Amino acid sequence: MFSKVLIANRGEIALRIVRACSELGVRSVAVYSDADARAPHVREANEAVHIGGSAASESYLRGDAIIDVARRTGAQAIHPGYGFLAEREWFARAVVDAGLVFVGPPASAIAAMGSKTAARTLALSAGVPVVPGTAEPLGDAGEAAAIAARFGYPVLLKAAAGGGGKGMRLVHEESELSAALESARRESRNAFGDDAVYVEKYIEGPRHVEIQVLGDSHGNMLHLGERECSIQRRHQKMIEEAPSIAVSPQLRESMGATAVRAARSAGYMNAGTCEFLLDRDGSFYFLEMNTRLQVEHPVTELVTGIDIVQWQLRIAAGEPLPFIQNQLSPNGHAIECRITSEDAFNNFLPSTGRVTYLRLPGGPGVRWDGGIGIGSEIGLHYDPMLAKLIVWAPTREAAISRMHRALLELTVEGVETSRDFHLRVMEDEEFRRGEIDIQWLERRIVSLTSVAPPPEGVRAAAIAAVLLADRNRDERRIPPGHAPGHAGGDAWLLAARRGGLRDGCPP
Ligand code: ADP
Repeated sequence: MFSKVLIANRGEIALRIVRACSELGVRSVAVYSDADARAPHVREANEAVHIGGSAASESYLRGDAIIDVARRTGAQAIHPGYGFLAEREWFARAVVDAGLVFVGPPASAIAAMGSKTAARTLALSAGVPVVPGTAEPLGDAGEAAAIAARFGYPVLLKAAAGGGGKGMRLVHEESELSAALESARRESRNAFGDDAVYVEKYIEGPRHVEIQVLGDSHGNMLHLGERECSIQRRHQKMIEEAPSIAVSPQLRESMGATAVRAARSAGYMNAGTCEFLLDRDGSFYFLEMNTRLQVEHPVTELVTGIDIVQWQLRIAAGEPLPFIQNQLSPNGHAIECRITSEDAFNNFLPSTGRVTYLRLPGGPGVRWDGGIGIGSEIGLHYDPMLAKLIVWAPTREAAISRMHRALLELTVEGVETSRDFHLRVMEDEEFRRGEIDIQWLERRIVSLTSVAPPPEGVRAAAIAAVLLADRNRDERRIPPGHAPGHAGGDAWLLAARRGGLRDGCPP
């Protein structure tokens, strides 16, 4: 195992990797921007080195500076996390060229899966079913119209270099095609410096189901089952679960084997994810492979008991996987809610500010992967995801109840968060029955966010009551969770914790 690893990332994922290193007895080196000087990942790592300005282009995207820090601090490997440099082929190559280990797949596998069109071509040649569509970038609108007519509307235009839902346009009929193509190209050019766009048949009402794979340098490649990621807004995941209620053991075996085949065809190694659309009739189509750790990896960790980040490090250090496929069936149910600094009741407007109060949920089966603390400044430089709240329980029903309870315990003050939105989803009957698909949230979002949280006054008074109770408790040195009044029916406490943030009036 390495003695020291540099983490080329920030926020919750940097802290997640610091923790994995710590448990493996590996020293961690954090890097940070101006804005992150006092961030939790900086405090928790064994060493931290400033690399530049707050804009990602001046810090977390400066591959050369990061490699230089690794050399100077004596780190033997670099873990890129997700986002930033994680899927940049040139970075993976530069790390290796500098005599260091890249904790991820070989650069050639990133390249093979890097463009959606190249990945589709590769998948097809490996016998992996893909969504009907082209594998070649589109020419002009005339060509696009001819191809779209062949597959039938609606179709989806997608950026070959796409990610995060960017450069994607749904087209219902031919009259919309030309403008949609132009705007997809523009968005892709701005986001990725590449305007290649191709077309896929738009599948109505499928689920997004993805398979986690793990491959070592000794030729072993396994899958860790699926994650259900259908709760999406604007093609961005908001809630993930494992397992999916739509996936039987037979389907898991078949999708898993397909994902392993796709990964092998790219010469893959380390942790990766094959994303699929699962149609109502049980057929599934490969969408793309994410050649990195996913945001939602914890739900898989909780149902398999496998620490994916630790295994990324072990694999990078040359260890063989000790498991065999039939040991890996999911146990119980896990759910993750992405806690973002967005005001769900105001069209998910990004919210900025300083975290003035933070009360974290706890108790059985609750995991908090966060990157914020009291005093954290939430700006607009980085992704709005502040943390992930993840729960495990023996059944899906129990996991939903547990998530609801944990969300009620969570209090973040100073910045708006998506907490109340997640509470609404956990309370929704259709969601509870598992009747979801990738368009579910778009259909339900208006009703889910129609009743605004309570007015500031009620909220502020309720929060003041919680703060006061906490201070009293601290003064009396009573351990958290044991404050008298927590279960004692104090109306204001309950208002802050529950109804006050939900219904607008104390119970
Ligand atoms: P990105 O890499 O930009 O996230 P993906 O190809 O992974 O793009 O797709 C993101 C989401 O968009 C999917 O999870 C799914 O909800 C939706 N989507 C993608 N392709 C299709 C399709 N052909 N039909 C219907 N929905 C799709």
